[in-house]
Amino acid sequence: MSEVSLCGQEGQQALRFPWDSAPEKGDVREVAEGVFWLRMPLPFALDHINLYLLRHEQGWVIVDTGMPTDEARKVWEGVMTGLFADQPVLAVICTHFHYDHAGLLAWLSDRFKCPVYMTCGEFQSLSLHNPKGDEPNWAFLQLYRRAGVSEAGIEQIVPTISRSSFSVEQPHSYRRLRDAQLLRIGSRQWRVVVGAGHSPEHACLYSEEDQLLISGDQVLPRITSSVCITVTEPDANPLLEWLDSLKRLRQLPDSVLVLPAHERPFYGLHKRLSQLQQHHERHLETLTKALREPLTAEEARALLFTRIRNGFDHLMAVGETLAHLNFLMEEGIVRRELVGEVWRYSLAQTNEQSVGSPEDIHL
Ligand SMILES: [Zn+2]
Repeated sequence: MSEVSLCGQEGQQALRFPWDSAPEKGDVREVAEGVFWLRMPLPFALDHINLYLLRHEQGWVIVDTGMPTDEARKVWEGVMTGLFADQPVLAVICTHFHYDHAGLLAWLSDRFKCPVYMTCGEFQSLSLHNPKGDEPNWAFLQLYRRAGVSEAGIEQIVPTISRSSFSVEQPHSYRRLRDAQLLRIGSRQWRVVVGAGHSPEHACLYSEEDQLLISGDQVLPRITSSVCITVTEPDANPLLEWLDSLKRLRQLPDSVLVLPAHERPFYGLHKRLSQLQQHHERHLETLTKALREPLTAEEARALLFTRIRNGFDHLMAVGETLAHLNFLMEEGIVRRELVGEVWRYSLAQTNEQSVGSPEDIHL
């Protein structure tokens, strides 16, 4: 196990990565006694997800599953006859409902007739966010038009939300995880640490005794997890929840080995939490300065995200910009008004309450 240092993406102090490379896709590596890191391939630019396999006296507990692809199922078949040596899967824990984490929950649970553990918010989101067909609904079109996205832009975005790979088969039942709950898996005790903002009720697992944190997408070493508005709740304030979660995670010791869902395990939790907070603060500052002149969300998006490669990037960038604008509105810093079909955002006047007054119900 070699110790290498890499600079943070934005020139900040380095995090420490104990392994200088990841396992080959489909391979496993033991990162702590009885904790195995499985590199599962994904069919995207982000070409992998890290899954964690926890040894138990009578079998195995899996944390997250990968996507419902033939390639992923093949990898699982290899793990079952290889590392698992035909011992059963006793339970599947899911950090959050996103399809790269939850895609094979039902398949694994049906195969082993084993329980799925996840929070209530994530379990319910599995059905709430599943695409209902290939045609966008009126609420989706209205949201992106109000954000100021052109019809041509919307046309590029629409196919990205109707891809069948987004649909996740929901397990028949689940066992609920709650914040601070203790799980004993093999000889190790894990505490559930719930965060929000990237998804509604994201579960991380923390082992105090061995200083391990399986962090899902709640803390990633280099990528910043998306914090997005979606059509499901256009007036939500996920960024407030995300920033609160970063503060709560800081209560865990800095000495933990963070086992993230993407990239590589690392040390430097507190440093990374600071970097993530600063990333969003910079976005908020950029918007506050720019909104001396009224802007649409799409115009604001162009200030924050310049590299848009495809419709999916555009979808996420608009969603993330709206999350920052909603945050500033709830802080009373920014107001928005509907001009024709499009929202225009500007700085709120002093003492003006842009949100929450009885007259303004966010129309
Ligand atoms: Zn995610």
